Amino acid sequence: METYLSQLNDAQLAPTLQKEGPMIVIAGAGSGKTRVLTYRIAYLMSEGIDAFNILALTFTNKAAREMKERIATIVGNSEAKNLWMGTFHSVFAKILRIEADRLGYPSNFTIYDTQDSDRLIASIIKEMNLDKDIYKYKQIRSRISSYKNSLITVRAYFQNPELIEADAMARRPRMGDIYKEYVERCFKAGAMDFDDLLLKTNELFTRFPEVLAKYQNRFKYILVDEYQDTNHSQYLIVRALSDKFQNICVVGDDAQSIYAFRGANINNILNFQKDYDDVKVFRLEQNYRSTKNIVNAANSIIDKNQTKLDKVVWTANDEGAKIKVNRSLTDADEGRYVASTIWESKMENHLKNSDFAILYRTNAQSRSIEDALRKRDIPYRIYGGLSFYQRKEIKDVLSYLRLIINPADEEALKRIINFPPRGIGQTTIDKLIVSANGYDKTIFEVMKNIDKTDVKINSGTRTKLQNFVTLIESYQVLNQTADVFELAEHVTRTSGLIREFNKDGTPEGVTRMENIEELLNGMKDFVEGQKEIADTTGSLAEFLEDVALATDLDNDKGDQDRVALMTIHLAKGLEFPYVYIVGLEEDLFPSAMSMGSRIELEEERRLFYVALTRAEKQAYLTYALSRYRWGKLVDSEPSRFIEEIDEEYLDIVTPIEERRFNPMLSADIFGDVEPNVIRYKPAKQPKLKKGNSAKKEPEKFQVTTPKNLKPVSKTNGNTNLFDSKLVVGNIVKHIRFGTGEVLKIEGTGADVKAEIKFQHGGVKKLLLRFAKLEVV
Ligand code: ATP
Ligand code: MG
Repeated sequence: METYLSQLNDAQLAPTLQKEGPMIVIAGAGSGKTRVLTYRIAYLMSEGIDAFNILALTFTNKAAREMKERIATIVGNSEAKNLWMGTFHSVFAKILRIEADRLGYPSNFTIYDTQDSDRLIASIIKEMNLDKDIYKYKQIRSRISSYKNSLITVRAYFQNPELIEADAMARRPRMGDIYKEYVERCFKAGAMDFDDLLLKTNELFTRFPEVLAKYQNRFKYILVDEYQDTNHSQYLIVRALSDKFQNICVVGDDAQSIYAFRGANINNILNFQKDYDDVKVFRLEQNYRSTKNIVNAANSIIDKNQTKLDKVVWTANDEGAKIKVNRSLTDADEGRYVASTIWESKMENHLKNSDFAILYRTNAQSRSIEDALRKRDIPYRIYGGLSFYQRKEIKDVLSYLRLIINPADEEALKRIINFPPRGIGQTTIDKLIVSANGYDKTIFEVMKNIDKTDVKINSGTRTKLQNFVTLIESYQVLNQTADVFELAEHVTRTSGLIREFNKDGTPEGVTRMENIEELLNGMKDFVEGQKEIADTTGSLAEFLEDVALATDLDNDKGDQDRVALMTIHLAKGLEFPYVYIVGLEEDLFPSAMSMGSRIELEEERRLFYVALTRAEKQAYLTYALSRYRWGKLVDSEPSRFIEEIDEEYLDIVTPIEERRFNPMLSADIFGDVEPNVIRYKPAKQPKLKKGNSAKKEPEKFQVTTPKNLKPVSKTNGNTNLFDSKLVVGNIVKHIRFGTGEVLKIEGTGADVKAEIKFQHGGVKKLLLRFAKLEVV
């Protein structure tokens, strides 16, 4: 047997060697689904199937790159080069470039990122004189995105009274008009947004059967990883492409479906067997990633979900350490706990920073963790924040480059027409936009032919506009011979960008310069890399394609030894020896937004399952009793998910505050001291205290308040005064701030707050549904 195949167990071997027909591998986390996909491709190639005929769709480009590298070590680099692998977006962007003219797009179309879409939508809202507090551009963008992912085009929208009605009810009767204008403006700018890449692919395959046939014949073998998180648009693409040969292999885990909020449809995986005839179903049961403790704990969690396929996951790995659960007083304490235990385990076990990951539910939680890591000098990297390519100075440079390739690109043009300042004011730009709309031309075309138009602009400004056009055109000439590095270097120098950023000498200015330098370095790398792996020249067009779809995960070359910080959503498919899941508190994780229904709560639970199963050796669960949220200190209680884990897998670390109040341990008072040497092991394992609310039936959380209002927390009946009649003058007791007097009550419903003057800690404003107060 081929040596690489000996690295698979029998259950993994079966789907790997199954060459033809529709097949699905459904299996729990860490059981080798991604490995099977990778080896199956290698196997197909070793069986003489041309790399050219294989298409593999992954969840991130980084995953695709790693798979390709692995395959290259088996079948050789020159063969692996020809494989088509990548995310749906990157693969179909490539196909759309080839076929663009059929859809009326230029092949050099721009890909608008969410920032570009936001700006365009905001400017449309402004042009339409709509109230921007009602028409919030981010909400509008996500609406448009969900229409597109459900294949609801503008025309379909206007034919659907229910949608129109729904938007009218949401006080946004002009929603459809904005959608229409947005689509038209993107089209005119030769731009597609992320959702278009899927929508237009569907359009292409439906309207042009001969094009579909061409790609069906090309991609005789299709493989999809993380199939549980495909949306409707992606589902249709896969169906269409695989329809002829039906050599379709999908792998996934229904228990890890976590993108429903972005339109992912778990039914895609549940119904796969109905979609094709004679589907072969494979199951993998052995987990190779994690210790017994982690695997069993994860199983005990996901067991609580009603909607799931029955699966067995076990591991032959060591028992491993129990999962550590830590309670802190505040989010700052939580950060300190995380930082100090990372520091210790590094010292004790000679670990690298990159052995650790800290996962959270929302990006905002990173701040307190970062503070603590910085104090300990532990290098870290945040993933999923603003990607490098979205930073201001980088987007400025990229906008010049985008305009060179596609002068119709409205967002790029608006960004740099007067940056660095060249005396072209907003009034002039507004006039150009109006005129462009009037002539049905692009802004660049209007500028180019300014003397033939009736735009009322004085001759001084006209000259400036013409100079700008000449500048861009001179870059276009250079672009015909230079690679992207040479071109960008020339552009940053001659456009005045470098001078502009160098000018102020402030630390921000210096950082901006460093970033631009980094961008140029990256381009140099790219040019070399393209020659190496793809036999192309490293042109500007290729580069822009790459960055438009890059996430910062993709930029990670893995050469930096840093602790990884990211949301759980981003961590899907990844693995780390040591994993911290922080902020395990009710209303945060599970998120308050998700408690309206069992379905949403089950998605949160799957998210927790994903988080826990990233850990190889050790998992830490942490929560704080109070935390700053939206600038206010709010009380919180431990997440139900902690309680749902079988106790036998848990190790409950001494809560910091209990040591604080213990005179024997008073040295710990400042919390920064090694917090996990002393443990308290009560005779009976304590259930984490959640008052009387022990087991909450999700149904009880049916909220009748509007969705954006947080549900009323059903905390301890005896201490939560939300429902009782607290009045000004009451003397109350708070577990942490002690005794105090109620000065003021304000707000209504779930938002009732009391202003209380405490003996210790001064005046505090507390949300009653969180604050645990007792009247004395
Ligand atoms: P997830 O559901 O999290 O995406 P997965 O099912 O895709 O997980 P993989 O990432 O393919 O699982 O595998 C998990 C880990 O186990 C990887 O480190 C992989 O290299 C290792 N692994 C998988 N199969 C084997 C095997 N037969 N022998 C040794 N190690 C294996
Ligand atoms: Mg995987």
